[in-house]
Formats: sequence, structure tokens, C-alpha cells
Amino acid sequence: MRTTKILLGTRNPGKIEEAKSILQVNSPDLEILTREEVTFAEVEEDGCSYVENSLKKAKEISQETGFSVLSDDSGLEVLALDGAPGVHSSRFSGPDADDESNIRLLLKKLDGRDDRGARFVTVATLYTNSGKRFRTRGMLEGKITTTPRGDSGFGYDPVFVPDGFKKTLAQLGKEKKNEISHRRKALEKMRKIVVKVFN
Ligand code: IMP
Repeated sequence: MRTTKILLGTRNPGKIEEAKSILQVNSPDLEILTREEVTFAEVEEDGCSYVENSLKKAKEISQETGFSVLSDDSGLEVLALDGAPGVHSSRFSGPDADDESNIRLLLKKLDGRDDRGARFVTVATLYTNSGKRFRTRGMLEGKITTTPRGDSGFGYDPVFVPDGFKKTLAQLGKEKKNEISHRRKALEKMRKIVVKVFN
């Protein structure tokens, strides 16, 4: 039986664990490789959209390594801020931004506002070693709180309450988050594509 190999184009251990668990369901012939098995250079995320960034990462790493590569790019979009911080989510509060300073700025910008609707978006791109490209998108809709709550997860998790829940993602915990997340939705769709493309 032929084994399909896909290299994950990320250095984030949390994303690696999540992607492995989603992609390997019902896929015994799929081998997921990570930066532990195949080294690759860091790719600068300087595109203007999730689509551009995820394609850039997947394509450059595929061309460097010769493997089919799966990459993703995500962000938080706040309706009252016309979709900001979006593709700039990780550097929202400046070049030295961290999760805390990003959250502080977000809450300041929303101070006194009732319209706190927001969504997380992930775009995943598979760039195959024969140069074909496939793209999926996943979203998680919800609201921004007025104060941070909870300590699991990362990024904006402490201030994001998904629709249908009362707790923030940071209070819901990793297991629940990974069941409903934007990344999960994009990767589930990608798993179906992988099964079709490589069989
Ligand atoms: P990345 O492209 O997945 O690395 O995400 C870029 C930035 O978006 C992160 O640094 C976070 O600020 C934010 N972000 C993306 N996904 C999440 C999430 O699941 N929870 C909280 N913040 C996130």
C-alpha cells in the first residue's frame, strides 16, 4: 500500500498536535511529517491576507523540501473594528506585541461599545509536491468580553466567547476548543480533500 506523506508547515507544537489528531482519523495511509523529521526555513508572513500567507508558507516550504506541505494562517476579525485585527492579529499592538498587550488594545478599542461580535478565521492551504494547490476555510463566531477570563489556550482566547457558550475559549479548555475551533473546521475539510487527492 502506498503511503502519502504530508509535511506540516508550522513550528507551533500546539498546531502540530491538533493537525495530527484531525488529519489522521480514518487515514492509515497518511504519514504526517513535522519539522522534527524535515527541517525547513522560517517563512515571513508578510502577505495582505490569510490566503496569501498560507499559500506562501505552503509553497515555499514545499519547494524547499520537495514534500507536499499543509500550512495555515488565522486571525481574529472584530465587526465593530471593520474586521481588524485580521491578518495582523499577532502584531496588533505593535512590533513587540504579546498576547496581553494585544488583548489590552482590543478591549480599549471596544470600550463602551455594545456591538462586540467577532469571528476567528483560518485558511489552510495544501501545496502538493506536483504543484497543485487546495484551500479550505474555517470560522468560529462569537463575542468579545469586557475583561479577560480563563487561562488556557493562547492569543485572544481569554476574551472570546463562542456563540452558544457562556465561557471564553480560555475557560472552556483545550479539548472543547479543539472540537469547535476555526482551525478544526478548516482541517476537517482539508482531510476530506487529502483523501480524494491522494487516493
Ligand atoms: P496563526 O496564523 O494561527 O499563527 O494566528 C495568528 C494570530 O491570530 C495569533 O497569534 C493569535 O493572536 C490569533 N489567533 C489565531 N487563532 C487563535 C485562537 O485559536 N485563539 C486565539 N487567538 C488566535
